[in-house]
Amino acid sequence: MDFNDTPEEAAYRAEARAWLQAHAPRPTGKIDNGLDDPVSMDASRAWQREKADAGYACITWPKQWGGGGGAAWQSVIFGQEEARFETPANPFAIGLGMCVPTVMTAGNEADKERFVRPAARGEEIWCQLFSEPAAGSDVAAARTRAVRDSEDWVINGQKVWTSGAHYSDFGLLLARTDPDAPKHKGLTMFWIDMKAPGVEVRPIHQMSGASNFNEVYFTDLRIKDSQRIGEVGEGWRVSLVTLMNERLAIGGGGGAGHRQVLKLAGEIATLAGPAIRDAGLREKIADWYVQAEGLKYTRYRTMTALSRGQTPGPESSIGKVVSATLMQDMAAAALELEDQFGIISDPRLAPLGGAFQTALMSAPGLRIAGGTDEILRNIIAERVLGLPQDVRLDKSVAFKDIPTGR
Ligand SMILES: Cc1cc2nc3c(=O)[nH]c(=O)nc-3n(C[C@H](O)[C@H](O)[C@H](O)COP(=O)(O)OP(=O)(O)OC[C@H]3O[C@@H](n4cnc5c(N)ncnc54)[C@H](O)[C@@H]3O)c2cc1C
Repeated sequence: MDFNDTPEEAAYRAEARAWLQAHAPRPTGKIDNGLDDPVSMDASRAWQREKADAGYACITWPKQWGGGGGAAWQSVIFGQEEARFETPANPFAIGLGMCVPTVMTAGNEADKERFVRPAARGEEIWCQLFSEPAAGSDVAAARTRAVRDSEDWVINGQKVWTSGAHYSDFGLLLARTDPDAPKHKGLTMFWIDMKAPGVEVRPIHQMSGASNFNEVYFTDLRIKDSQRIGEVGEGWRVSLVTLMNERLAIGGGGGAGHRQVLKLAGEIATLAGPAIRDAGLREKIADWYVQAEGLKYTRYRTMTALSRGQTPGPESSIGKVVSATLMQDMAAAALELEDQFGIISDPRLAPLGGAFQTALMSAPGLRIAGGTDEILRNIIAERVLGLPQDVRLDKSVAFKDIPTGR
């Protein structure tokens, strides 16, 4: 593991920092009402376009498609530097992190020409239509049907938990094309226009008050065969490209951390004196510090692999398992410390701008999205530690013969 920037990395970091200092939008002090607010969306699009013009959006993508033509280590360094600034919300993460890389890897040349540049510039937004009511962790159990009708396909079914479907232009859709084949072999990937007749998006109301994800229903949605990504029946293989990118894209928790809990504990008085004198709380903070340091060094390991031109392996699953639980534990303890103020969620009134209130409400979702804790632990057990595989009884059974419980 190498902790220091090489001279080349240090030079790139200095250049990126100087550019960000000159161009990053200044915080307005206004409360961000989220991406449903057209003003926030405009700010996000403008920031993405400015980065694309300077070669800092999609740094590893080819220049011909609007990328920066750079290396993965440059992308990591720019991300670290950008995180120091209060930039607009990022509605492009799913498209740029997962969907468009899938089009670039498995799509045809016409699709690459059509979609990659507008996505990199923030002009078009994508969502990922994989999960269904009975296909989440086991996404290969997808039941949304795509039936061939001469040059078209007709889609019927339902997706769920589709983040950003309500403001997306396009979606990456995993559909069942052959129910007679085993479940991993009868799937095909398509792109769809989210505004086409036959697509209905229904927002899901969350406990935070926001509606970031949706149910998406397809009723006789007719699409062209040219919207297929990869071969018929190869949808599972194509989806692995998306899912591998997803594990890398959904990294850590971010937001408020153990330093803020420490500060809070120093400021809050209990009947027994300052909260920080409580030995149980001090022990917890020390434990969170150790976990945060462990995460930091795991990230250094990824960074070292990238700067040596290697691809980070399944060990990157560790980051999300640890950071999401850490975020949830710290937020619960911080809200307890805040006592009656802990229930205030308005960022203008809540302590620390409501950072821990937000963290407590988003942590459970983070422990599920992009692979639940249990699924990631299975990956670590099987692929990092080399333990025996999970039992998979339905692997070679025709999909239509798998019992559904009905
Ligand atoms: C914030 C958020 C955003 C999301 N955005 C999207 C999106 O944009 N597009 C999309 O397609 N999906 C999205 N999802 C859905 C997400 O991918 C699924 O929720 C996730 O894969 C889990 O599936 P599930 O909810 O059906 O739970 P299930 O798979 O039904 O799991 C239920 C429980 O069983 C456990 N379990 C399941 N299988 C095993 C096993 N083999 N071994 C041990 N335990 C197991 C799980 O860990 C979990 O605790 C999002 C989810 C969240 C929370």
